[in-house]
Amino acid sequence: MTEAAMTTMSAPAPTGRFGEFGGRYVPESLIPACAALETAFREAWADPAFHEQLSRLRSQYAGRPTALTPAHNLSAQLGVTLLLKREDLAHTGSHKINNVLGQALLARRMGKSRLIAETGAGQHGVATATAAALFGLRATVYMGERDIARQRHNVFRMELLGAEVIPVTSGSRTLKDATNEAMRAWVAAVDEAHFCLGSVGGPHPYPWLVRELQRVIGEEARAQAPAVPDVVVACVGGGSNAAGTFAGFVDTPARLIGVEAAGGAAMTDGMPGVVHGYRSMVLQDAHGQVLEAESIAAGLDYPGVGPEHAHLGATGRAEYRTVTDDEVLDAVRRLARAEGIICALESAHAVAWVLRAAGTPDLPTGSAVLLTLSGRGDKDMATLAGEVR
Ligand SMILES: *Cc1c(COP(=O)(O)O)cnc(C)c1O
Repeated sequence: MTEAAMTTMSAPAPTGRFGEFGGRYVPESLIPACAALETAFREAWADPAFHEQLSRLRSQYAGRPTALTPAHNLSAQLGVTLLLKREDLAHTGSHKINNVLGQALLARRMGKSRLIAETGAGQHGVATATAAALFGLRATVYMGERDIARQRHNVFRMELLGAEVIPVTSGSRTLKDATNEAMRAWVAAVDEAHFCLGSVGGPHPYPWLVRELQRVIGEEARAQAPAVPDVVVACVGGGSNAAGTFAGFVDTPARLIGVEAAGGAAMTDGMPGVVHGYRSMVLQDAHGQVLEAESIAAGLDYPGVGPEHAHLGATGRAEYRTVTDDEVLDAVRRLARAEGIICALESAHAVAWVLRAAGTPDLPTGSAVLLTLSGRGDKDMATLAGEVR
């Protein structure tokens, strides 16, 4: 086995590094909080009682295991065998709930009374508000003004669930700025609040912790699939649904493919740099100034990407592709009409790559493909109404 193929997606180095990426680039005041979270996570993850609680929540509350659906019609059209891992069927409508239920359990274990979160499309905010309601915690969610306008439906859901949604008016008024504000709020309330980060970015231990909580996607899919597929594909914003999916297949010969938005492709167009407390591939200008990402999918409008993806890319174990907004809109419609499934704009990035690549050397006819459908499209109806005919 080559060195690249041995990248196992196990624990990072004690410093929180995946190769040259990751780490803990935060203000001095947050170092103890990150260290305490790491200790709490190591203890919880080694405690069978924690796994029992999490497993009960997953099955009794979140609707796991989610189905693995053969996409018979699309498969016939494309000449590949396509299986869909249905995170759109999880409670609250996306994979975000997997991460949040685990972090809420951890927050309770650490004696915290409050969750602080950032959100882009609002799915992580909704999942956080949901877990906070269930656990009797206070929730404060930071969301860019521009995303609030695009995703009103999710703002209403968060408020109905009892969370406070704070509009962020700085910078591009999207996820990048919401994440800055949420981290600032955490500094100010670090004793009472847990920062419930939504993806596999942020300072150590978040990239590892969130990947472990999302690993359930890949492990279920591996057990449900009739055989190891040739290709495993998922969309990549911060990279959590892809990381959780890849974790179930990294030790197999399956090719791992992450699909980014052409306007927010940190793996394809980025350079090594530091953003939001970690070192990874980051969209930036020649002076290291972080650039704005631009995508029709609010959940992929993010200039960074989880450090483990940067490492998987650097070692060649995973490959990254980009698709355009137009291809994504077409993919939403094709999947809806072929299979009766309306997926999220984010998830449609993975579908769009399969549509484009099927029958080419990148995805030869006859290939078996497992695709994680990260969420459902209900939140995107306002965007889609103006775009899809
Ligand atoms: C948040 C979100 C994403 C992007 O986040 P990842 O961390 O890259 O998984 C993708 N799909 C949906 C439905 C989302 O809500």
